[in-house]
Amino acid sequence: MADLLGTEAAKALQENISQELEGFIGRTPCLGIVRVGERPDDLAYEKSATKRIESLGMEVRKFTFAADITDAEFREAFRHINNNPGIDGILMFSPLPDTIDEKKILSIMNPEKDIDGLTLTNQALVYSGEPGGFAPCTSEAVIRLIDYAGIDLTGKRVTVVGRGKVIGKPVSMLLIGQNATVTVCHSKTENLREECKKADILVVAIGQARMIDDSYVSDGAVVIDVGINVDEDGKLCGDVDYESVSRVASLITPVPRGVGSVTTTVLAQHLLRAARG
Ligand code: NDP
Repeated sequence: MADLLGTEAAKALQENISQELEGFIGRTPCLGIVRVGERPDDLAYEKSATKRIESLGMEVRKFTFAADITDAEFREAFRHINNNPGIDGILMFSPLPDTIDEKKILSIMNPEKDIDGLTLTNQALVYSGEPGGFAPCTSEAVIRLIDYAGIDLTGKRVTVVGRGKVIGKPVSMLLIGQNATVTVCHSKTENLREECKKADILVVAIGQARMIDDSYVSDGAVVIDVGINVDEDGKLCGDVDYESVSRVASLITPVPRGVGSVTTTVLAQHLLRAARG
């Protein structure tokens, strides 16, 4: 078994971004981060996204709001950010508090600035396989990692565990687009273990700490663990039990230093693409 390191894949992608940025004439691309409240996950992602974008020579502007902002106040503020020609891409943390009508916000978000693929327009483009849409960065990071490992997805049996709108569903569509044969599983799937064992490549995004152990994985399979959880000892871990699965998998992404490391780099790629128009 070997580790499939997101940190290494990200480095390779970052070189391309730096080269592209050199050839980009115009303003420095600018990311607008929109956050309501102070959820620890959001703060952690905001920190790593900011670090990545700035380290690549692009700009970040933060728009933060108290968790008790009213729906009308937030919508008004969001309109300004959305219409600001100095903001090329928007990263808005979701879900928004229940008091805000998130669907309405997404319905006004400019799809060309929606670089994390939240709007229905981008979902439609990604799901229909049309070019030009933005997929959620994490789902695209999975594809970038598989590509970095030199694996041709054509005809491969891929099982995706999780049908969430940020990873499970979009990554399944991206995998189909790469000619993989995709099975999507979820909490109501019968015989989950057997479905997982059929896979050449197993992609897990369920938010259940270390649930997928070696009994779900066939010898030599490639395992992509998208999960980010904190275990009972306060340690970061994936949805896959790395210790047992790494004994049977041919390649496995660790947590941390796996998919998450590629996600912010894909965000930077999307920002540059949005700035180029
Ligand atoms: P969601 O809650 O949107 O989706 C979870 C999915 O997992 C659902 O489809 C659910 O099924 C399924 N599921 C839950 N429990 C089980 C189970 N016991 N057996 C089978 N399926 C199950 O979560 P996300 O997709 O947003 O996140 C998934 C994981 O990815 C989390 O750990 C999250 O922290 C991580 N993440 C990582 C990122 C990164 O950059 N690496 C970025 C974003 C998220 P059902 O639909 O039936 O309820």
